[in-house]
Amino acid sequence: MPNAAPETHRFEAEVDAVLRLVTHALYANREVFLRELVSNAVDALDKARILALSGEALRPAEGESAVRIVLDRDAKTLTVEDNGIGMTADEARDNLGRIAHSGTRRFLEEVAKGARPDDAALIGQFGVGFYASFIVADRVVVDSLSAQPGAEAVRWSSRGDGTFTLEPSDRTRRGTSVTLHIGEGDTTFLDPAVVERIVRRYSNYVLYPIELVEAGKDAPPRRINATKAFWTRSPKEVSEEDYQAFYREFMGGFLLPGDEPLTHLHFSMDAPIQFDALLFVPGRAPMELLGEASRGVALYARHVLVMERAEKIVPVYLRFLRGVVDSEDVPLNVSRETVQDHQSVSAIRRQVTRKVLGHLETIAKDSPETYAKIWERFGAFLKEGIHTDNAHRDTLARLLRYPTTASDGALVSLDEYVASMPEDQKAIYYITGASMEELAAAPHLEACRERKIPVLLMTDPVDEWVVMNLTEYAGKPLENVSRSTFELPAGDQGKGDEAGALSQLLSKAKARLGERVADVRASQRLRSSVSCLVDPPDGIGANMERILKAAQRPVSVRPKILELNPRHRLVQAAEALADTAPDDDRLPVLIDLFYDMAELSQGTVTDPKATVSRIETVLARFVPPAGGS
Ligand code: ADP
Repeated sequence: MPNAAPETHRFEAEVDAVLRLVTHALYANREVFLRELVSNAVDALDKARILALSGEALRPAEGESAVRIVLDRDAKTLTVEDNGIGMTADEARDNLGRIAHSGTRRFLEEVAKGARPDDAALIGQFGVGFYASFIVADRVVVDSLSAQPGAEAVRWSSRGDGTFTLEPSDRTRRGTSVTLHIGEGDTTFLDPAVVERIVRRYSNYVLYPIELVEAGKDAPPRRINATKAFWTRSPKEVSEEDYQAFYREFMGGFLLPGDEPLTHLHFSMDAPIQFDALLFVPGRAPMELLGEASRGVALYARHVLVMERAEKIVPVYLRFLRGVVDSEDVPLNVSRETVQDHQSVSAIRRQVTRKVLGHLETIAKDSPETYAKIWERFGAFLKEGIHTDNAHRDTLARLLRYPTTASDGALVSLDEYVASMPEDQKAIYYITGASMEELAAAPHLEACRERKIPVLLMTDPVDEWVVMNLTEYAGKPLENVSRSTFELPAGDQGKGDEAGALSQLLSKAKARLGERVADVRASQRLRSSVSCLVDPPDGIGANMERILKAAQRPVSVRPKILELNPRHRLVQAAEALADTAPDDDRLPVLIDLFYDMAELSQGTVTDPKATVSRIETVLARFVPPAGGS
């Protein structure tokens, strides 16, 4: 487009909408425009670096990679310039006139769904990008020369009024400059002290120099961001506030109350591999919706960012960690696809895992309140590790916490549980279910509750995988109290067991229920309930069946064992009936209902219609016959 007259283009309709939203809604948060421009400049530098590494022939940059901010009080302009990848005319038209990029689009979608557009969290998460310039500028002029060989320099300019123009630019250096003609009310952004403060707040640890230049002054460009990668400092030199500030910066410049990290771990290793690591446990579990999952553990090679989210640097179950790993031994050109094959990366992952788990153990011991918060938010992730990380299963098992039937809501560790076991209790008892409410009502726990025998209460779906993998702890097997194999400790067996045998009823019930049950037997574990279903020793268990069904996985549901409570009046009456009047027609109805009650108490009814019709049969006996006087 050389020597062409300016062409005028209309913004895509959505851009107009974003522009209006952004400029009006961000009134109280005007300074974010600078963060957005600096990070665009940094992205442009990163892109150029990555392309150069991959061997692409590029127009060389002048000087060291850097971002420069030029303030001109007379011209009332603020310019953010970089010597990065630049844009061709087509790219300028597409990138600065449409919202192809996901951040802004998602921002709009959230607003359309009812989110407040001036919600600081929302803006922090998505970034509203380049258009934030129009918060403070009456006019924005972008001059860019692409690194692509042969590209021509282009000038894009707009007053943010629905149109922009494109024309040739006289820029001769590779990169981009974005010049804001600052509006009357915003001249504070021409003040170097103000600009410096904003840069430090948002962009201090950016790995390229950010230089400030004041037009008309003789002073040389002055670097205003940190010169040393924060994590290479010795932990002794770094204050708690520094860590908090770094974390805020790392998370994009915004933290809501409650987002402050729960703990951090800062260490370096020299052998077998050199690296520095600074890792945080966030204050809150990531909300995938708001795009927080886009942060993770960033991988740097010799202080240069290789990957913003290097999944392989920590095992999947530690994906809640945020922070930085920086190694001299990781090649710069490692890619997302090849990173897992790198020996250096797996060596780092092993060390990081060991250190993080060790750190969590220390916190659990020295600062139980903090550990309780970590467990509440990230316990499910650690449980996943029991399933996936054989090598650290023992350590992870020490980190487990559960409430018990005897702990009044407090969480206990397996060590505490084992220490409290009476001598005649041979196994660690647990039960799994969908919720605490369900377990509070579980008939299987009645005898244990009555005898004050602690049972671990597990209500997280992932707990099923925990117990599948953790078959014993400290030499004690784990035993599910809703399995048929469960027995009360020897000393508690038969206690309060005034019940007679149920021999007649059991054989009647077996005959009546047939295939629906694997067996019918008298129960040890019931106290107040009539009946319950217990899982046969080899089945996957009712809770797991439900989880798999909910996940739409194929499950083969095995018949359960029906247990009847020999202490219960109704059961005793049924036994008496079976004994004295085995052909009484009430007997099959009672047996069916005993089974229905067992199903109901665990929240699954296989055939609701049949159950309802049986209840009806019984109720019919309470009301006068139809047509009766
Ligand atoms: P985002 O940065 O979220 O993609 P922006 O609105 O900030 O959204 O920028 C839109 C696009 O314009 C960027 O994705 C990039 O392609 C291009 N761009 C913006 N600033 C620069 C720059 N300084 N150098 C090169 N390209 C840029």
